[in-house]
Amino acid sequence: MIDRYGGCQHRRFDSLAAMPAPHPHATIELFREDAHLRACEARITGVDDRGIRLDCSVFYPHGGGQAGDSGELRCADGLIIAIADTRKGEAPGEILHVPAAGQGDALALLTPGDAVTASIDWQRRHRHMRFHTATHLLCALVPHPVDGCSITAGYARLDFHMNDPLDKDALTAGFARLVAGGHPVSHRWISDEELDANPGLVRSMSVQPPRGTGRVRLLEIEGVDLQPCGGTHVANTAEIGAVVVTKIEKKSAMTRRVVLGLAD
Ligand SMILES: [Zn+2]
Repeated sequence: MIDRYGGCQHRRFDSLAAMPAPHPHATIELFREDAHLRACEARITGVDDRGIRLDCSVFYPHGGGQAGDSGELRCADGLIIAIADTRKGEAPGEILHVPAAGQGDALALLTPGDAVTASIDWQRRHRHMRFHTATHLLCALVPHPVDGCSITAGYARLDFHMNDPLDKDALTAGFARLVAGGHPVSHRWISDEELDANPGLVRSMSVQPPRGTGRVRLLEIEGVDLQPCGGTHVANTAEIGAVVVTKIEKKSAMTRRVVLGLAD
């Protein structure tokens, strides 16, 4: 078998085996299969002004409303590069680890092929995961189309296309019920053909899946929500903890914004 994943040791994920050979600049996205991975061994595949590329990574790049990860890369000789943000590159599947400012001397020492331990700021990322999963619960509590979404470590907000009023206390109570319910959260990949063959499944989704990419990642919160999503989530709604609806705003005639906070 051709070793198409270079030096990356994480080849245990079955779904990766079915993937087409990635773009030369593509990074294996370990966070898609296991959002609880805090670190991985990787090799540098490129360094330039835009950021550092790795053959595989646990760093989630900004996308789908969710903030990019921060953390650090530790080289074999002990050199540490602080990573301030993670972004998608221009090439398909390319992930750029954006260094914090003021590390020019250290960055000049990095060479493609170098081994690094890539570690995310787990405290921050886990809050992204808790908030992100909470936005799925909100989709179940407010069955209207979503216009916009932002997920950070401090808050999450969703904009709904609707003009009915929303009740803050009723929504907070709804969160408490769904978190206490301990609903398992899981994902699976589904092909365009399977989607086409299952109109009932498509109808049951709170957000309609994109077509033409060949396959879609479905995120299911058992008994609560099913929708296409590429973000990082907790494994069970109980892991979200206490969610508070901090604000409900009327952004326009047909937009209601709901802002969420975590009680801890
Ligand atoms: Zn999601």
